[in-house]
Amino acid sequence: MNEKKNCKIVQDLLPNYIEKLTNEETNTFIEEHLKECDECREIFSNMQKDFKFNSQKRDHREVKYIKKYSHKMKILKIILLIIVAIFVIRTGRNFIIISSLSNKADDYVSSTNYHKKTTNFDGTSMTIMDTYSKDGKLVSFLTRVTPEETNKISVYKNGETSNLYFETGDKKTAQLNQKDVMIAVNIVNYLDTDHNLLAALLGSITSSIKTVNCNEKDCYLITNFLTSNWLTSENEGTYIDKETGLMVRSTMNGNSTDTVVDYIHEFNTVSDDIFVEPDINEYEITANN
Ligand SMILES: [Zn+2]
Repeated sequence: MNEKKNCKIVQDLLPNYIEKLTNEETNTFIEEHLKECDECREIFSNMQKDFKFNSQKRDHREVKYIKKYSHKMKILKIILLIIVAIFVIRTGRNFIIISSLSNKADDYVSSTNYHKKTTNFDGTSMTIMDTYSKDGKLVSFLTRVTPEETNKISVYKNGETSNLYFETGDKKTAQLNQKDVMIAVNIVNYLDTDHNLLAALLGSITSSIKTVNCNEKDCYLITNFLTSNWLTSENEGTYIDKETGLMVRSTMNGNSTDTVVDYIHEFNTVSDDIFVEPDINEYEITANN
């Protein structure tokens, strides 16, 4: 009876014994009993087999899971690495292109003999600005053509003052010796990286640059996928001459109309005759300073 009672206790303890969760005293008790009891030994032997089999199966499942998981992680890492590499290469390429164009344009910014022509077309009206500069003298011819009429303004700037000549249809008027006449006709480095390195870097990240032909020139078309006040905005494109780094065209896609501005730059072709003013007798003088 006592033996049978022990059997129950031993059989209850066996699972823990197999998993090595029992203390030494219990172990001795169990082992002593197993030596003498065939029934319990039989149960123990079967339990041990089951345990080994189950733990093998479990181990196998874990190994399989870890392998599958680490394989997925590897693929994810490779994809991430490729994305980072593409991003770095793209940004680097863009930055090199922008810096190189900026350096080229810098050579022209301080030119003292240039002709710059800007043609602005917004679908209905066209504005042409023709500017000639030589050794500090400046003349600018502005022509605005709308379906209704054509306006012409000629600005002769000599030092502080300017003479302005207006033509609308047959009407000709002039304003002489005007001060503070602003005409934006400098040669501009649109991609100035020297003075705005951060913007250039940001522009390199957010810009897409591709080679295109524009106005018979090999150009880079720079578009920006983020709205930015530097370089270009969303839906805008800037065409930069590969040879000079100067702007050839800019486009703006508005809600109703698309605006295209074309630029032509010429250097060291301006001669003095362009600065000869028209015959003042043909004009009615409307203002004098
Ligand atoms: Zn027993």
